[in-house]
Amino acid sequence: MSKRLHIKKEVLRAVYFNDSLSCAEISERIEKSIPTTMSILSELMKDEIIEEAGYAQSSGGRRPITYSAKADAFYIVSVAMDQLITKIAILNFKNEIVSKVFEYDLVLSQNEQALKNLTEYIKESIKKSAVSTNKILGIGIGMPGFVDIKKGINYSYIPSGHETIASYIYRNLNIPVYIENDSTLIALYEQKFGTTVGDHNAMVVNINWGIGLGMIIEGQIYRGYNGFAGEFSHIPFFNNKKICYCGKYGCLETEASLQVLVEKVNDKLRAGTIPSSLELLTQRNEEENVAKIAEAAMNGDKLVLETISEIGYDLGRASAILIHIFNPEKIVFSGRGALFGDLWLPSVLQGINENSIPRLAEATKVVVSKIGANAELLGAAALVLENGTKVLTNNTIFEH
Ligand SMILES: [Zn+2]
Repeated sequence: MSKRLHIKKEVLRAVYFNDSLSCAEISERIEKSIPTTMSILSELMKDEIIEEAGYAQSSGGRRPITYSAKADAFYIVSVAMDQLITKIAILNFKNEIVSKVFEYDLVLSQNEQALKNLTEYIKESIKKSAVSTNKILGIGIGMPGFVDIKKGINYSYIPSGHETIASYIYRNLNIPVYIENDSTLIALYEQKFGTTVGDHNAMVVNINWGIGLGMIIEGQIYRGYNGFAGEFSHIPFFNNKKICYCGKYGCLETEASLQVLVEKVNDKLRAGTIPSSLELLTQRNEEENVAKIAEAAMNGDKLVLETISEIGYDLGRASAILIHIFNPEKIVFSGRGALFGDLWLPSVLQGINENSIPRLAEATKVVVSKIGANAELLGAAALVLENGTKVLTNNTIFEH
């Protein structure tokens, strides 16, 4: 890629990840001179990729003009997969979802057809959104399992034969594809748009059907030697003789996950010793079960609150490990479980405080993300911007 195109991409990223920035702010972020930045900005405006966005707030002196991304300059296809459901949405350059969020039942476990199905669903979603394919910058996909982003392979799900997942989809749709582990995407979302913007060292715990972990170390997402870092769910943590799906005993997720939350609530409902507004949770769709539990929690249901405290305490104990090893400035509880909001905090903090050295623990802020249901989709879009090698000029996409 030519040097100028490289700078252009840096400018595009800067305006994409911020609502609006002045030329001076962009020049500082991309570490290029103001004249160079200004000349790139002019080109991007001529190409109708960015636009002027009014004057900046100023504490005195002349207020500078700011620039922001032009919403319809290009689009990104975001895909958020879990073991059962795949969500697909089209986002514009202002990071707004402009299509419906399409939902597909796609069971990943032992599904030889998963990749073929996924490709068809993406194709169908693009078609329904009516966005022109030549305006699509890329497809970002977050998926569970052991994802090797360098090789483009998922070792747990979505078998791709002799090709990579990315090359299979590219061959069929002719749009570049970037894949990532779901918890890393949640961390990317928090880093770019959420609770850890500007933090250099933060741990993002993804409370989901398991417990994922995205690590922001020295401002970068840390992926480990071959991309598998952050398998928090499978640290050996309990002497409970419970076998985990990974085949080992006593992993963190055998006592602490949303799956376990549903099981524990049901066990207590069956035992009938604590009054509750809930009836036995029998939905096949675990998402609906969790939604019911969350509603009861917000209404102060004693049985549910007690169960959240038990799991929260164990998450706190496990977080003590993160605090001792990484000394993070922040631990963020994010992902689907953030639905319970600050209800996690008292027990999580108790678990941390009882199990960590105060000097370390007091340096770490603990927060629950204000994440919405679509965070992974936004993270998937950020993934495309982070890694994309395409650059737009004159409303056409050229690859360099
Ligand atoms: Zn395990």
